[in-house]
Amino acid sequence: MSMNIAIDGPAGAGKSTIAKMLAKQLGFIYVDTGAMYRAMAYNFLSRGIDTADEEAIAAACTDVDVTIAYENGEQQVLLNGENVNGVIRTEEVGNTASAVSAYSAVRAKLVKLQKQLAAKSDVIMDGRDIGSCVLPEAQVKIYLTASTAVRAKRRYDELTAKGISCDLMQIERDIEARDERDMHREISPLVQAEDAVLIDSSELSINEVVQEIYQICQRHAGGHAEGREK
Ligand code: C5P
Repeated sequence: MSMNIAIDGPAGAGKSTIAKMLAKQLGFIYVDTGAMYRAMAYNFLSRGIDTADEEAIAAACTDVDVTIAYENGEQQVLLNGENVNGVIRTEEVGNTASAVSAYSAVRAKLVKLQKQLAAKSDVIMDGRDIGSCVLPEAQVKIYLTASTAVRAKRRYDELTAKGISCDLMQIERDIEARDERDMHREISPLVQAEDAVLIDSSELSINEVVQEIYQICQRHAGGHAEGREK
């Protein structure tokens, strides 16, 4: 049976950075489910489909194929066979992903793929509903969060480092709106699973969080993680 680690939490909590580092340390495959929702959103945006129209989105889902592949250990999202990694990281795609991820047709498609990936490999999967819905049997569940101000500042620094000009206040407002949608949607809202360990990374360094989760993995897996350490 594969070992599964679920990391959920709001936008900008550091999930992907931390999950990637842990995956390397443990020799697990990292699955970024947000990237899959982003790929779907990118497809709807490029086709000019009204994302407020659930029926149109559900119909459009039948023509979308999202899969993932790995290049040098990095997850690549393939949208109808085309690598879209380079175009899904914009705020527009992120906000659209948050809007369309509330629809059952979108979720059903991606959750199926995510479950298949976790069944056949040891994975660290991050997202919003991994511990609560996609992998309820995951051996380790983490709910990673940080204050809105800290998350907005991290996103701001990330974008500015890439040379993208942005407005900190606007990012903070977007994050609040995204949290509100993700936490209050009807299907699979962002929640801390009952058996998830809460980690607030506001005052912690990336390494401190990685090490804390690593220790939890070792405790829960009873040496399984240690045996795989590189
Ligand atoms: O994590 P990321 O910001 O890339 O995710 C984009 C959006 O996709 C999130 O705001 C959320 O609405 C949606 N999402 C989701 N369930 C997941 C992962 C992401 O609904 N498991």
